[in-house]
Amino acid sequence: MHEVSLVAELVEAVELRADGRPVSLVRVRHATTIPEDVLRQAFDMLTEGGPLAAVALESEPFDVRLRCACGFDGPLGHDDLVGASMAVCPSCGELSQVPATAEIELIEVRLAT
Ligand SMILES: [Zn+2]
Repeated sequence: MHEVSLVAELVEAVELRADGRPVSLVRVRHATTIPEDVLRQAFDMLTEGGPLAAVALESEPFDVRLRCACGFDGPLGHDDLVGASMAVCPSCGELSQVPATAEIELIEVRLAT
């Protein structure tokens, strides 16, 4: 599953930043193309039993938007994206280039004190 591999990369990035130190909170931004519950489920699954199992995950959603020649200008859903930089217009079905966005972005790794 696409989301799980993205979250696996996120978990790796957190472990790299934490460098063996205990972490209390992880803050991320995620595209609304990834539902928050899917993000949380994947994070829980991937950190279960490990040093990050008890970490609080805070997430802020952001929209991936498309402006199409047909007049559509709005946020895209998960099924509208094709890979990282192409999208299918939900209104006319035209394939367009969208700026490549990281669907999950690591904002902060707060260490436990
Ligand atoms: Zn369109």
